[in-house]
Amino acid sequence: MADLFSIESVILHRLNMKLKAPFTTSLDHFQNKDFYIIEVIDQDGNQGFGETVAFPTPWYTEETTETVFHMMDSFLIPLLQKKQLSHPDQVAELFMPIRRNNMAKAGLEGAIWDLYAKRQAIPLADAIGGDNKKPVEVGVAVGIQESLSDLLKVVEQHVTEGYKRIKLKIKPGKDLTILKEVRKQFPDIPLMADANSAYSLKDLDHLKRFDELGLQMIEQPLGHNDFLDHAMLQRQIETPICLDESIHTLSDVKTAIALGSCKIITIKLGRVGGYTVAKKIHDYCREHDVPVWCGGMLEAGIGRAHSIALATLPQFILPGDTSASSRYWEKDIITPEVTMHNGLVQLPDLAGIGFEIDWQALESYRIQKIEYK
Ligand code: MG
Repeated sequence: MADLFSIESVILHRLNMKLKAPFTTSLDHFQNKDFYIIEVIDQDGNQGFGETVAFPTPWYTEETTETVFHMMDSFLIPLLQKKQLSHPDQVAELFMPIRRNNMAKAGLEGAIWDLYAKRQAIPLADAIGGDNKKPVEVGVAVGIQESLSDLLKVVEQHVTEGYKRIKLKIKPGKDLTILKEVRKQFPDIPLMADANSAYSLKDLDHLKRFDELGLQMIEQPLGHNDFLDHAMLQRQIETPICLDESIHTLSDVKTAIALGSCKIITIKLGRVGGYTVAKKIHDYCREHDVPVWCGGMLEAGIGRAHSIALATLPQFILPGDTSASSRYWEKDIITPEVTMHNGLVQLPDLAGIGFEIDWQALESYRIQKIEYK
C-alpha cells in the first residue's frame, strides 16, 4: 500500500550569507547570497529541507529572491497545504497550473523529496534512481578576476586542491588571452569557459579561435533563448557547446538536440523546476547519448547536497560545479560540511539528503522566518 503523507507546515528561513570572495560573471557581481531554506513537516513530524537558488537580481533567469518568495507565499505553498501525497512526482503535477517560476517550484519540491526519502529511510540519491555510493566528480567555477595574475593564483589553488576541471567565467575582452595563458600554465587540466550569453553571431570569427584552446566545452556563448544561433555556431566550431540558460524544460532539450544547438547539457534543479523534470531531461539525454553535468548556483549546504544527489544519476558523466562547502563559505549551514577529496565528493550513507542542519549556523545567517500551518 502506498505510504500517504501530507504537508502540515512549511517554514521559510530567509538567510543572508557572505561569500568568501565576491563572484563576477559577464552580467553581475555579488558578495552575498540572499535566499530561502525551506523546511517542510509532515503529519508524523518528519522534516525535509530544500533551498531556493535565485539571485537577488534577474541576470541568470527572470527569477529573483523576491519573486521566488511571492510565488511560494501566494501560489505554491497554498497548493501543497494539507494535500495527501504518495510520491514527490505529484508535486510537479500540483504545480503544473503555475507557469515557469522554476526556482520557486524546485525549492519546495526538493524539500518534499528529502522528506519522502527520510520517510522511506533511504538516501535521496537512491530515491531519485541514482546511486548514493557513487563518488561524484567535481570541478570548480572561477568568476572573472581583476587581473590575470589573480586568476592564475586562484586556478593554481583549485588545481592543487584536486578539482577535476576548471571552468572560467569569460566576457568579451576577458576571454582568449586569459584562456590561452591558463592553458599554457596548466596544459593538461580539463578547462572550459562560460560566457553567460556574452556573445552573438557577429563574434563568429572570434569564437572560432576558441578551438585552438582544447576546451572541454564552451557554455552558453549566445543568447539565453537562442537555439537557432547556437545551432549555426555549433556547425562552425569544433569546441562542443553546452547549453545552460536555454534549458528550462524537456521540450527545450528536445529542441536543442534536434537542431544541433549543443553537444552537452548542464542540468540545474532550480532552472528546470526540480527533480521530476530533471530526471526526464537526464533520461532523454541518456537515450540520445548527450553527456550532462550538474551546474551550480553558489548554493549553501542544502542546495549543494541536492545537486550532488542529482549528479549520482548515470548520465552525469562530466564533473559538475558541486564543489566543497569551503569553496564558497567560511561556515556552511550543514553538518558535516560537503568535503572533496581528490576531486570526488561522497555522500554520507544516511536517509534523505544525508546532512543535518547546523541550526546554530543557520540562525546566525537568518534574517526572517515565516511559518505556514
Ligand atoms: Mg553557466
